[in-house]
Amino acid sequence: MAALRARTVLLTGSNRGLGLELVRQLLGGPRPPAWIFATCRDPEGPRAQVSARLHGSQTLSSVSADVADPTAITNAVKIVEAKLSGTGLNLLINNAGIYAPVTLDTVDSEEMIRAYKTNAVGPLLMAQAFLPLLKKAARESTDKGLSCSKAAIVNISTVMGSIERTAESFFKPVISYRCSKAALNMLTKCQALTYGETGILCVALHPGWVKTDMGTQEADLTVDTSVRGMLSILPILSEKHSGSLLNWEGKVIPW
Ligand code: NDP
Repeated sequence: MAALRARTVLLTGSNRGLGLELVRQLLGGPRPPAWIFATCRDPEGPRAQVSARLHGSQTLSSVSADVADPTAITNAVKIVEAKLSGTGLNLLINNAGIYAPVTLDTVDSEEMIRAYKTNAVGPLLMAQAFLPLLKKAARESTDKGLSCSKAAIVNISTVMGSIERTAESFFKPVISYRCSKAALNMLTKCQALTYGETGILCVALHPGWVKTDMGTQEADLTVDTSVRGMLSILPILSEKHSGSLLNWEGKVIPW
C-alpha cells in the first residue's frame, strides 16, 4: 500500500479524540513526517494529552490555536513559519469540531453561530492563513498532479452534513452541527475549485461514527480503526477525489 510522504503536517484539535490518534499514528507510521504541528486550544491545559503522551518526540511541535479566534490562528502561522524555516506545509488537517444535541425546537441563534464559527469558519480561516505555506509546498514538490504528500487540505466533516443522506440519520437532529458541516462540505468544494490550480488537493473526510467524547462509547468504530482507515486512504487521493466527501474507507458520500 502507498505510504503518505508528507514532510510537514498540521492538525487542529489534536489534544484528544480523533486528532490525538491522528498524531499518534502519523508519528508511528512507516514514514513519519519531519514535522507534525499538533495544534489545540490550550497545549498546557488539563485536556491536552498530546504533550503528556507524546512528549519527547523530535518531530512533534505543540502549537496553540483556537480555530474560532483569528488572532490565535495568525500567531500559530508565525510559530509554524519560523519552525519550517523557509519550507512549505504539505498537509493541513482541519479536525477540530463541536457538536450539540439541539433540535429545531431547542436550537437558538447563539448555538447556530457557535457551531458555524468552529466547524465552518475555523477551517476557512485556517486554510486562508496557511495558504502561502501550502502553496510553497506545492511549488517545491516535483510530484505531478494533486496529492496529500504534495499539498492538501483535509477537512474532517461528517455524513451528517450530507443533505442527500439526512433522512437516514435524522433520529439525531443536531441542527447546528448538520448545518455547519454542510457549510464545511460546500467550503471544501469551493476550496478544491480555487486551490486546485495552485497544486493543492482539497477533500472532506467522514471518519465514521467513532468512540470519542463527541461520538460517545456507543459508537461503531474505535479511534484506532477510524484513523487507520483515514490514513490509509490519504496516500491514494488524487485530483479525481479533490472536492469530494469521502468516508474513512474511501467511499464517496453524496452531498
Ligand atoms: P472530540 O469532541 O473528541 O474532540 C474535539 C476536538 O476539537 C478537541 O480536541 C477540541 O479541543 C477541539 N476543538 C473544539 N473547538 C475548538 C476550537 N475552537 N479550536 C480548536 N480546537 C477545538 O471530537 P472527535 O475527535 O470525535 O471529532 C473530531 C472531528 O471529527 C470533528 O470535526 C467531528 O465533527 C468529526 N466527526 C466525529 C465523529 C465521531 O463519531 N466522533 C463523526 C463524524 C465526524 P478542546 O479539548 O479544547 O475542547
